[in-house]
Amino acid sequence: MRQGFSIILISLLVVIGVADVNAQVKTTIDPCRVGHQAPATGFWTWAANAHVQVYVRFADFDPGHLPYLLTALQNWNSASEQTGSGVKFEYQGNTVQQRSCENCLTIMRGRVFDKTTRHATELRAYSAKGNQIITFASIIVDPVLTNPKALLNALVHELGHNLGLLDCYTCKRKSTVMNQFEAVNVSNDMEKPTSCDIAQVREAYKELKMLVRASPSGRESMPVDEGEEPVDDDTPIVIPPTANRSTGGSTTLRPAHVPNN
Ligand SMILES: [Zn+2]
Repeated sequence: MRQGFSIILISLLVVIGVADVNAQVKTTIDPCRVGHQAPATGFWTWAANAHVQVYVRFADFDPGHLPYLLTALQNWNSASEQTGSGVKFEYQGNTVQQRSCENCLTIMRGRVFDKTTRHATELRAYSAKGNQIITFASIIVDPVLTNPKALLNALVHELGHNLGLLDCYTCKRKSTVMNQFEAVNVSNDMEKPTSCDIAQVREAYKELKMLVRASPSGRESMPVDEGEEPVDDDTPIVIPPTANRSTGGSTTLRPAHVPNN
């Protein structure tokens, strides 16, 4: 009888032991796998600790839209310490035309909607030093994008791009602000960077400290989808060729989107 009891006891311990191992495996799985919950990095970025001066071309927007634009800036600012980028977006008010000053970002409307790709917003970046560090940039919002919440989602996504994040169309829904949009003027409820977005921006700025990539030759810009149909995204941007290679690349070359001035 005693022996039988011991065997049962040992069996129980083994079962408990197995359960423990499983629990450990679960907790050690990386919750931010690139392409699953996290976007890849390698885009152009504002310099570390840059105080980006943000201008909005008032004439382009309904006054009711402004708070949504500012919320997008604020939501990335709130993550600035966590990402280690130190980048802050400082709202400066109205501008009549696109600004080309150092560390200046202009938010304005323009016809960028592409019927085929259904891009409703676009980021245009320029680097004076010919590397991946942005000197000035513009976020262009197509007039078709009018839903305030969708506008906020699009802006948060764009700001992710200029902090080094690439699109992630294969990522799980709501895991990243760099996910695909389903349709124009439909909110995806992504109003601020997720923990995986924050982790990836931190990676981008860590890499930036070690290596600033060369500027792309010819300044080609590409939509950086992950192999699925781009829907309603804003990806045309000047990006370093090394970044294209690291993400597995995209298929369509687009004309340059470098500002004229
Ligand atoms: Zn995008």
